[in-house]
Amino acid sequence: MADAPRPRKRILSGMRPTGRLHLGNLVGALWNWRMLQDEYDCFFMIADYHALMSEYEKPAGIRDNCREVLIDFIACGLDPGRSVIFRQSDVPEHAELHLILSCYTPISWLERNPTYKEQMEQLTSKDIHNYSFLGYPVLQTADIVIYRANLVPVGEDQLPHLELAREVVRRFNHLMGREALVEPQAKLTASPRLLGLDRRKMSKSYGNQIDIADPPDVIRKKVMSMITDPLRIRVADPGHPEDCNVCQYYKVFDPSAHDDVADKCRNSKWGCTDCKRHLAEVLSTLLAEPRAKRAELEAHPEQLHAILAEGARKAQAAAREVLNDVKALTGLGKM
Ligand code: ATP
Ligand code: MG
Repeated sequence: MADAPRPRKRILSGMRPTGRLHLGNLVGALWNWRMLQDEYDCFFMIADYHALMSEYEKPAGIRDNCREVLIDFIACGLDPGRSVIFRQSDVPEHAELHLILSCYTPISWLERNPTYKEQMEQLTSKDIHNYSFLGYPVLQTADIVIYRANLVPVGEDQLPHLELAREVVRRFNHLMGREALVEPQAKLTASPRLLGLDRRKMSKSYGNQIDIADPPDVIRKKVMSMITDPLRIRVADPGHPEDCNVCQYYKVFDPSAHDDVADKCRNSKWGCTDCKRHLAEVLSTLLAEPRAKRAELEAHPEQLHAILAEGARKAQAAAREVLNDVKALTGLGKM
Protein backbone atom coordinates (compact mmCIF):
# COMPACT_ATOMS: atom_id res chain seq x y z
CA MET A 1 0.00 0.00 0.00
CA ALA A 2 1.35 3.42 -0.88
CA ASP A 3 2.22 5.73 2.00
CA ALA A 4 -0.40 8.37 2.71
CA PRO A 5 0.90 11.74 1.51
CA ARG A 6 2.32 13.71 4.43
CA PRO A 7 0.62 17.05 4.93
CA ARG A 8 2.81 19.90 3.76
CA LYS A 9 4.43 22.06 6.39
CA ARG A 10 2.94 25.49 6.73
CA ILE A 11 4.71 28.82 6.37
CA LEU A 12 3.64 32.30 7.33
CA SER A 13 5.45 35.46 6.36
CA GLY A 14 4.52 39.07 5.90
CA MET A 15 5.55 42.60 4.99
CA ARG A 16 4.52 45.88 6.46
CA PRO A 17 2.77 48.20 3.98
CA THR A 18 5.07 51.13 4.67
CA GLY A 19 5.92 51.76 1.00
CA ARG A 20 6.40 50.07 -2.36
CA LEU A 21 8.71 47.08 -2.31
CA HIS A 22 12.29 47.41 -3.49
CA LEU A 23 15.19 45.30 -4.76
CA GLY A 24 16.19 44.42 -1.18
CA ASN A 25 12.73 42.99 -0.49
CA LEU A 26 12.95 41.13 -3.80
CA VAL A 27 16.26 39.36 -3.16
CA GLY A 28 15.83 39.08 0.61
CA ALA A 29 12.26 37.81 0.67
CA LEU A 30 10.15 37.61 -2.50
CA TRP A 31 12.44 35.38 -4.57
CA ASN A 32 12.60 33.00 -1.66
CA TRP A 33 8.86 33.11 -0.97
CA ARG A 34 8.13 32.38 -4.60
CA MET A 35 10.20 29.18 -4.37
CA LEU A 36 8.74 28.13 -1.03
CA GLN A 37 5.32 27.89 -2.67
CA ASP A 38 6.45 24.70 -4.42
CA GLU A 39 7.16 22.90 -1.19
CA TYR A 40 5.02 24.45 1.53
CA ASP A 41 1.51 25.50 2.33
CA CYS A 42 2.09 29.28 2.35
CA PHE A 43 0.31 32.21 3.97
CA PHE A 44 1.59 35.62 2.88
CA MET A 45 0.31 38.59 4.79
CA ILE A 46 0.22 42.33 4.28
CA ALA A 47 0.74 43.39 7.88
CA ASP A 48 -1.26 46.59 8.13
CA TYR A 49 -1.87 46.42 11.90
CA HIS A 50 1.91 46.23 12.24
CA ALA A 51 2.31 49.23 9.94
CA LEU A 52 -0.09 51.27 12.08
CA MET A 53 2.13 50.72 15.12
CA SER A 54 4.72 53.10 13.68
CA GLU A 55 2.64 55.04 11.12
CA TYR A 56 -0.27 55.98 13.40
CA GLU A 57 0.45 59.72 13.15
CA LYS A 58 0.02 59.67 9.36
CA PRO A 59 -1.98 56.50 8.69
CA ALA A 60 -3.46 57.67 5.38
CA GLY A 61 -0.69 55.99 3.35
CA ILE A 62 -1.27 52.53 4.76
CA ARG A 63 -4.25 51.67 2.54
CA ASP A 64 -2.50 52.75 -0.68
CA ASN A 65 0.60 50.88 0.37
CA CYS A 66 -1.43 47.70 0.96
CA ARG A 67 -2.45 47.90 -2.66
CA GLU A 68 1.13 48.54 -3.82
CA VAL A 69 2.49 45.65 -1.76
CA LEU A 70 -0.22 43.33 -3.08
CA ILE A 71 0.63 44.32 -6.66
CA ASP A 72 4.34 43.73 -5.97
CA PHE A 73 3.57 40.33 -4.41
CA ILE A 74 1.66 39.11 -7.45
CA ALA A 75 3.95 40.78 -9.99
CA CYS A 76 6.92 38.96 -8.43
CA GLY A 77 5.36 35.52 -8.62
CA LEU A 78 3.32 34.94 -5.48
CA ASP A 79 0.43 32.87 -6.70
CA PRO A 80 -3.01 33.38 -5.14
CA GLY A 81 -4.03 30.03 -6.66
CA ARG A 82 -1.53 28.20 -4.46
CA SER A 83 -0.92 30.52 -1.51
CA VAL A 84 -3.21 32.40 0.81
CA ILE A 85 -2.47 36.08 0.25
CA PHE A 86 -4.31 38.34 2.66
CA ARG A 87 -4.41 41.61 4.56
CA GLN A 88 -3.98 41.26 8.29
CA SER A 89 -6.82 43.59 9.31
CA ASP A 90 -9.26 41.61 7.14
CA VAL A 91 -8.83 38.83 9.70
CA PRO A 92 -9.54 40.57 13.02
CA GLU A 93 -9.01 37.24 14.78
CA HIS A 94 -5.32 38.25 14.81
CA ALA A 95 -6.16 41.20 17.07
CA GLU A 96 -8.28 39.06 19.37
CA LEU A 97 -5.61 36.41 19.76
CA HIS A 98 -3.02 39.15 20.27
CA LEU A 99 -4.98 40.40 23.27
CA ILE A 100 -5.29 36.92 24.74
CA LEU A 101 -1.59 36.13 24.23
CA SER A 102 -0.60 39.47 25.76
CA CYS A 103 -1.95 38.09 29.07
CA TYR A 104 0.66 35.34 28.85
CA THR A 105 3.59 37.63 27.96
CA PRO A 106 5.65 39.11 30.80
CA ILE A 107 6.58 42.73 30.10
CA SER A 108 10.23 41.99 30.91
CA TRP A 109 10.41 39.60 27.91
CA LEU A 110 9.40 42.46 25.64
CA GLU A 111 11.65 45.06 27.21
CA ARG A 112 14.77 42.93 26.84
CA ASN A 113 14.14 42.30 23.12
CA PRO A 114 17.29 43.53 21.29
CA THR A 115 15.38 44.41 18.08
CA TYR A 116 13.10 46.67 20.10
CA LYS A 117 16.05 48.35 21.81
CA GLU A 118 17.78 48.89 18.46
CA GLN A 119 14.67 50.37 16.85
CA MET A 120 14.19 52.72 19.80
CA GLU A 121 17.67 54.07 19.12
CA GLN A 122 17.60 54.05 15.30
CA LEU A 123 14.08 55.03 14.34
CA THR A 124 14.31 58.63 15.42
CA SER A 125 12.05 60.02 12.66
CA LYS A 126 8.98 58.37 14.21
CA ASP A 127 7.66 58.30 17.75
CA ILE A 128 7.39 54.62 18.61
CA HIS A 129 7.15 55.06 22.37
CA ASN A 130 3.64 53.65 22.27
CA TYR A 131 2.09 50.67 23.99
CA SER A 132 1.60 48.69 20.76
CA PHE A 133 5.19 48.93 19.55
CA LEU A 134 6.48 47.22 22.67
CA GLY A 135 3.99 44.44 21.98
CA TYR A 136 4.92 44.15 18.27
CA PRO A 137 6.26 40.59 18.72
CA VAL A 138 3.11 39.49 20.57
CA LEU A 139 0.99 40.37 17.55
CA GLN A 140 3.58 38.62 15.41
CA THR A 141 3.20 35.55 17.63
CA ALA A 142 -0.56 35.66 17.10
CA ASP A 143 -0.03 36.01 13.32
CA ILE A 144 2.02 32.83 13.28
CA VAL A 145 0.22 30.55 15.71
CA ILE A 146 -3.24 31.42 14.45
CA TYR A 147 -2.37 29.42 11.29
CA ARG A 148 -0.46 26.70 13.14
CA ALA A 149 2.54 27.72 11.02
CA ASN A 150 5.53 25.43 11.51
CA LEU A 151 8.09 27.63 9.83
CA VAL A 152 8.64 31.35 9.53
CA PRO A 153 11.16 32.59 6.97
CA VAL A 154 13.01 35.46 8.63
CA GLY A 155 16.10 37.58 8.42
CA GLU A 156 18.49 37.70 11.37
CA ASP A 157 16.88 40.83 12.82
CA GLN A 158 13.70 38.82 13.34
CA LEU A 159 15.27 35.96 15.31
CA PRO A 160 14.62 37.50 18.75
CA HIS A 161 10.94 37.89 17.80
CA LEU A 162 10.72 34.25 16.82
CA GLU A 163 12.40 33.18 20.04
CA LEU A 164 9.87 35.23 21.97
CA ALA A 165 7.02 33.65 20.04
CA ARG A 166 8.33 30.22 20.99
CA GLU A 167 8.57 31.21 24.66
CA VAL A 168 5.01 32.56 24.69
CA VAL A 169 3.74 29.36 23.05
CA ARG A 170 5.59 27.18 25.56
CA ARG A 171 4.24 29.21 28.47
CA PHE A 172 0.69 29.06 27.13
CA ASN A 173 0.85 25.33 26.44
CA HIS A 174 2.39 24.65 29.83
CA LEU A 175 -0.31 26.61 31.68
CA MET A 176 -3.10 25.04 29.63
CA GLY A 177 -1.67 21.57 30.18
CA ARG A 178 -1.63 20.60 26.51
CA GLU A 179 0.03 21.38 23.20
CA ALA A 180 -2.71 23.76 22.16
CA LEU A 181 -0.49 26.00 20.02
CA VAL A 182 2.16 24.90 17.52
CA GLU A 183 5.66 26.08 18.41
CA PRO A 184 7.09 27.70 15.27
CA GLN A 185 10.64 27.42 13.99
CA ALA A 186 12.64 30.14 12.28
CA LYS A 187 13.69 29.36 8.74
CA LEU A 188 16.67 31.62 8.26
CA THR A 189 16.81 33.07 4.77
CA ALA A 190 20.33 32.99 3.41
CA SER A 191 19.51 36.30 1.82
CA PRO A 192 22.10 38.83 0.81
CA ARG A 193 21.67 42.07 2.67
CA LEU A 194 21.39 44.38 -0.29
CA LEU A 195 22.84 47.84 0.22
CA GLY A 196 21.05 50.91 -1.02
CA LEU A 197 22.24 53.73 -3.26
CA ASP A 198 24.07 55.26 -0.28
CA ARG A 199 25.59 51.94 0.91
CA ARG A 200 23.35 51.72 3.99
CA LYS A 201 20.92 48.77 4.06
CA MET A 202 18.33 49.33 1.35
CA SER A 203 15.13 50.27 3.22
CA LYS A 204 11.75 51.71 2.45
CA SER A 205 12.30 54.24 5.20
CA TYR A 206 15.79 55.45 4.20
CA GLY A 207 14.89 56.73 0.71
CA ASN A 208 17.87 54.84 -0.74
CA GLN A 209 16.00 52.22 -2.70
CA ILE A 210 15.31 51.08 -6.23
CA ASP A 211 11.66 50.07 -6.34
CA ILE A 212 10.42 47.03 -8.21
CA ALA A 213 7.99 49.46 -9.88
CA ASP A 214 10.65 51.94 -11.06
CA PRO A 215 10.66 52.52 -14.85
CA PRO A 216 13.96 52.32 -16.80
CA ASP A 217 14.68 56.07 -16.76
CA VAL A 218 14.29 56.19 -12.97
CA ILE A 219 16.44 53.08 -12.57
CA ARG A 220 19.14 54.67 -14.76
CA LYS A 221 19.11 57.89 -12.75
CA LYS A 222 19.30 56.03 -9.45
CA VAL A 223 22.06 53.66 -10.58
CA MET A 224 24.11 56.60 -11.90
CA SER A 225 23.95 58.13 -8.41
CA MET A 226 25.31 55.00 -6.68
CA ILE A 227 28.51 55.38 -4.73
CA THR A 228 31.29 53.25 -6.28
CA ASP A 229 34.86 52.49 -5.20
CA PRO A 230 35.97 55.69 -3.43
CA LEU A 231 39.62 55.01 -4.35
CA ARG A 232 38.94 54.97 -8.08
CA ILE A 233 38.84 58.53 -9.34
CA ARG A 234 40.04 58.20 -12.96
CA VAL A 235 39.38 55.37 -15.39
CA ALA A 236 43.11 54.61 -15.36
CA ASP A 237 43.06 54.00 -11.58
CA PRO A 238 42.76 50.27 -10.86
CA GLY A 239 39.40 49.54 -9.19
CA HIS A 240 38.53 47.41 -6.15
CA PRO A 241 35.38 45.55 -7.17
CA GLU A 242 35.12 43.80 -3.81
CA ASP A 243 34.58 47.22 -2.16
CA CYS A 244 32.22 48.53 -4.80
CA ASN A 245 28.48 48.35 -4.28
CA VAL A 246 27.83 48.41 -8.05
CA CYS A 247 30.02 45.33 -8.56
CA GLN A 248 28.22 43.60 -5.68
CA TYR A 249 24.95 44.18 -7.52
CA TYR A 250 26.32 42.20 -10.46
CA LYS A 251 26.95 39.29 -8.10
CA VAL A 252 23.26 39.27 -7.17
CA PHE A 253 21.53 40.32 -10.39
CA ASP A 254 23.86 39.10 -13.17
CA PRO A 255 26.17 36.54 -11.55
CA SER A 256 27.53 35.16 -14.83
CA ALA A 257 28.82 38.64 -15.74
CA HIS A 258 30.36 39.38 -12.36
CA ASP A 259 33.89 38.02 -12.99
CA ASP A 260 34.17 39.87 -16.27
CA VAL A 261 32.91 43.10 -14.68
CA ALA A 262 35.39 42.72 -11.81
CA ASP A 263 38.22 42.17 -14.29
CA LYS A 264 37.29 45.26 -16.31
CA CYS A 265 37.18 47.29 -13.10
CA ARG A 266 40.42 45.99 -11.61
CA ASN A 267 42.33 46.38 -14.87
CA SER A 268 40.86 49.72 -15.91
CA LYS A 269 39.19 48.28 -19.01
CA TRP A 270 36.13 50.43 -18.42
CA GLY A 271 35.08 53.29 -16.17
CA CYS A 272 32.50 53.36 -13.39
CA THR A 273 30.07 55.16 -15.66
CA ASP A 274 30.19 52.31 -18.21
CA CYS A 275 29.78 49.82 -15.42
CA LYS A 276 26.73 51.63 -14.03
CA ARG A 277 25.14 52.18 -17.43
CA HIS A 278 25.34 48.45 -18.06
CA LEU A 279 23.97 47.62 -14.59
CA ALA A 280 21.00 49.93 -15.21
CA GLU A 281 20.22 47.88 -18.34
CA VAL A 282 20.52 44.62 -16.42
CA LEU A 283 18.11 45.85 -13.76
CA SER A 284 15.65 47.31 -16.27
CA THR A 285 15.56 43.98 -18.10
CA LEU A 286 15.14 42.04 -14.86
CA LEU A 287 12.26 44.24 -13.75
CA ALA A 288 10.55 44.36 -17.16
CA GLU A 289 8.34 41.37 -16.42
CA PRO A 290 7.17 42.48 -12.96
CA ARG A 291 6.64 45.97 -14.41
CA ALA A 292 4.40 44.63 -17.17
CA LYS A 293 2.51 42.48 -14.68
CA ARG A 294 2.10 45.50 -12.41
CA ALA A 295 0.58 47.53 -15.25
CA GLU A 296 -1.87 44.70 -15.97
CA LEU A 297 -2.91 44.49 -12.33
CA GLU A 298 -3.27 48.25 -11.98
CA ALA A 299 -5.68 48.19 -14.88
CA HIS A 300 -7.81 45.55 -13.15
CA PRO A 301 -8.45 46.62 -9.58
CA GLU A 302 -11.31 44.13 -9.42
CA GLN A 303 -8.75 41.31 -9.62
CA LEU A 304 -6.91 42.79 -6.63
CA HIS A 305 -10.13 43.01 -4.65
CA ALA A 306 -10.96 39.42 -5.54
CA ILE A 307 -7.53 38.20 -4.43
CA LEU A 308 -7.88 39.92 -1.06
CA ALA A 309 -11.46 38.72 -0.59
CA GLU A 310 -10.51 35.13 -1.33
CA GLY A 311 -7.38 35.38 0.83
CA ALA A 312 -9.39 36.80 3.74
CA ARG A 313 -11.97 34.02 3.42
CA LYS A 314 -9.39 31.24 3.51
CA ALA A 315 -7.27 32.87 6.20
CA GLN A 316 -10.27 33.56 8.40
CA ALA A 317 -11.52 29.99 8.18
CA ALA A 318 -8.14 28.72 9.39
CA ALA A 319 -7.76 31.44 12.03
CA ARG A 320 -11.22 30.89 13.53
CA GLU A 321 -10.44 27.27 14.37
CA VAL A 322 -7.41 28.14 16.44
CA LEU A 323 -9.04 31.16 18.05
CA ASN A 324 -12.10 29.13 19.07
CA ASP A 325 -9.84 26.52 20.60
CA VAL A 326 -7.88 29.17 22.54
CA LYS A 327 -11.07 30.88 23.71
CA ALA A 328 -12.46 27.59 24.96
CA LEU A 329 -9.25 26.98 26.91
CA THR A 330 -9.16 30.48 28.39
CA GLY A 331 -12.73 30.67 29.59
CA LEU A 332 -13.89 33.13 26.95
CA GLY A 333 -16.93 33.00 24.71
CA LYS A 334 -19.55 30.23 24.82
CA MET A 335 -21.14 29.15 28.11
P1 ATP B 1 11.14 49.46 6.64
O1 ATP B 1 12.14 50.53 6.27
O2 ATP B 1 9.71 49.94 6.74
O3 ATP B 1 11.56 48.62 7.84
P2 ATP B 1 12.26 47.50 4.85
O4 ATP B 1 12.67 48.02 3.52
O5 ATP B 1 13.35 47.29 5.87
O6 ATP B 1 11.11 48.47 5.40
P3 ATP B 1 10.71 45.26 5.70
O7 ATP B 1 9.23 45.35 5.44
O8 ATP B 1 11.23 45.60 7.08
O9 ATP B 1 11.46 46.17 4.62
O10 ATP B 1 11.24 43.82 5.30
C1 ATP B 1 10.49 42.92 4.54
C2 ATP B 1 11.38 41.74 4.15
O11 ATP B 1 12.41 42.16 3.25
C3 ATP B 1 12.09 41.08 5.32
O12 ATP B 1 12.07 39.69 5.11
C4 ATP B 1 13.52 41.60 5.23
O13 ATP B 1 14.45 40.66 5.77
C5 ATP B 1 13.71 41.80 3.73
N1 ATP B 1 14.62 42.93 3.45
C6 ATP B 1 14.37 44.23 3.71
N2 ATP B 1 15.41 45.01 3.31
C7 ATP B 1 16.34 44.16 2.77
C8 ATP B 1 17.64 44.36 2.18
N3 ATP B 1 18.17 45.56 2.03
N4 ATP B 1 18.31 43.28 1.75
C9 ATP B 1 17.76 42.02 1.88
N5 ATP B 1 16.56 41.78 2.43
C10 ATP B 1 15.84 42.83 2.87
MG1 MG C 1 12.86 46.83 7.98
